[in-house]
Amino acid sequence: MKILVINSGSSSIKYRLFDIEEKSVLAVGIVERIGLETGRIKHAVGQQETARELRIADHGQGLREMNALLTDAEIGVIADPAEITAVGHRVVHGGEKFSQPTRIDAEVIAVIRELIPLAPLHNPANLQGIEVAMQVFSQAAHVAVFDTAFHQTMPPASYRYAIPDNYYTEHGIRVYGFHGTSHAYVAEKAAEHLDQSLSETNVITAHLGNGASITAVKNGQSLDTSMGFSPLAGLIMGTRSGDLDPAVVFYMADKFGMSPEEINQTLNKKSGLLGICGSNDARDILERQAAGDEQAKLALEMYTWRIKKYIGAYTAALGRVDALVFTAGIGENSAYIRQQSCAGLENLGIALDANKNNAPGNSVAEIQTNDSRVKILVIPTNEELRIAVETLKVLQEKNVQQFPV
Ligand code: ADP
Repeated sequence: MKILVINSGSSSIKYRLFDIEEKSVLAVGIVERIGLETGRIKHAVGQQETARELRIADHGQGLREMNALLTDAEIGVIADPAEITAVGHRVVHGGEKFSQPTRIDAEVIAVIRELIPLAPLHNPANLQGIEVAMQVFSQAAHVAVFDTAFHQTMPPASYRYAIPDNYYTEHGIRVYGFHGTSHAYVAEKAAEHLDQSLSETNVITAHLGNGASITAVKNGQSLDTSMGFSPLAGLIMGTRSGDLDPAVVFYMADKFGMSPEEINQTLNKKSGLLGICGSNDARDILERQAAGDEQAKLALEMYTWRIKKYIGAYTAALGRVDALVFTAGIGENSAYIRQQSCAGLENLGIALDANKNNAPGNSVAEIQTNDSRVKILVIPTNEELRIAVETLKVLQEKNVQQFPV
C-alpha cells in the first residue's frame, strides 16, 4: 500500500511516498519557493536526484508537478496517482480538539480553520496543502496528524499557565506543546530498544533541530514539554529565544516603541543562537567555537545550560527515568552538545561515555557509561514515517468499523 506524506508550509511542500508494508521510501522531495518568480522542485528516487526550476504559482501547481514526477515515464515510481491509497498530512495545531490522527472531512477542515488564531503561521499553509491534495488525489483517504496531539495527555498542572482562569476557559491560552510526532516516535523506539512495554517506559526526549523541544514521557505519554502556547517557549533554538521573562516584552514595547509584530519577529526570527552569535547553524557555531570564537562559545554554553536544566527538571517530574533520548539534526549529530548537556548530571544517574558518544552509529545507539543508571540514547527521528504509520492505523480503524469480523 502506498501512502504519501505531505508537510505543507507557506511557500514549500515537503513530500515522501512510502510503500508502507515494506516501510520503504519510494520517492522524496520538496517543492520550494511557491508563488515566487522562480520555484524549484527537488525529487529523489533512491540515489537518483532530479531538480527542476520553474515558476510554481501556487500549492495546487506544486502538487501537480510533484504528481508528474511520481508518475513520470522514466523516473516515476507509480503508474497512476490512484495507486496512492492515503495521504497523511502534517498539521501543526490540533488544539484541544485532536488528540489522535484524524480522517479529514469537511468538519475536520472547519476545526483546523477555527484553530488558525492559535497557529497563524502554520495552520493556513497546512490547510492549503490539504485542500489542494484532496483535489489532486481525490481518490485517496486523507488523514491529519497533529504536532500537538501527543501532548494532549499532559495534566492541568503541566499545561495551565498561572494567569486569570478565563484566559484558558474562554480563550484557550495554555501549553499545547509541539514536535509531538517526533517525541512519540523516539519514545516508542526507545521502549522497543529497552525491550519494555511503552506503557511502562519513562523517557526524556530531546528533539534538537532548528526548532527544539524536550518532553518528559511517563508511561509512554507526554507528561510535560518545553514548548508552550506556541513553539517559542522552552529551549534556546536556532532563531527563537525559548523561555524568557515576559516583562522583557513589555520593556521592549515601552522603551523602544516596538509593536507586537516587531517583538514577535525579534523573538522568533532574530533570537536564539542567531541572536547571540550571528549564526543559527550549529555546525558553523561548533566550528567557530573550536577556533576560539567567544560569541560562539557563549551561545553553546547558553544552549546546553538550558537543556541541562530541563533534563534536571524532567528527572524530578518523572521520578524514574529509563532513558534520555537525543534526536533531530543537532541531537543526532553533535557529540559536543550531547556531552555538554549531560555534563555534571552523574548524581541524577546520567553519565555519558565519551568514546561511545563520539561514534554513536546510525541507528539506535547507547552512549552512557556501564554504571549510568539512565540509558542515554541517540535515535534518528523519522516524523514522516510515523505520519505514514499513523495514517495507516486510521485507515485500518475505519476498516474495522466498516467490516467487523
Ligand atoms: P529542522 O528542525 O529544520 O528539521 P534539523 O533537525 O535538520 O532541523 O536540524 C538542523 C540543525 O542540525 C542545524 O542547526 C544544523 O547545523 C544541525 N546539524 C546538522 N548536522 C550536524 C552535524 N553533523 N553536527 C552538528 N550539527 C548538525
